[in-house]
Amino acid sequence: MQYPTAKEVRCERCKAVFTIPDVSVEVWNEIFELMRNDKRVMAVKLLADKSGPPGFANLGNAKATLFHFSRPGGVCVRCYSPLHEVGETKCAKCHSFNFSWSDRTVINPEETERTQ
Ligand SMILES: [Zn+2]
Ligand SMILES: [Zn+2]
Repeated sequence: MQYPTAKEVRCERCKAVFTIPDVSVEVWNEIFELMRNDKRVMAVKLLADKSGPPGFANLGNAKATLFHFSRPGGVCVRCYSPLHEVGETKCAKCHSFNFSWSDRTVINPEETERTQ
């Protein structure tokens, strides 16, 4: 499993600039469990609750962060292309920033070529 580090990120695709919140591995594990079950909105709420004082900036960062996390199986959050790398990566097809957290990340060059 890959864990993100707290830092500012810029997405080339949507031009968003946001800060990945600083929370513990335990919290990330809870978030990944929600993401695996396709409960991204609940995951956003959890991340916002755990990462800082209530407010728009905190919720905005939580939302932007998790809406740039790969879908289960290691595919791009935006266009569903397989991602080559785990951790921070950029989708080869749509250039969207992705954080590929899944332990089942697709690393299959043939698959990638077909979808490009
Ligand atoms: Zn983006
Ligand atoms: Zn993509």
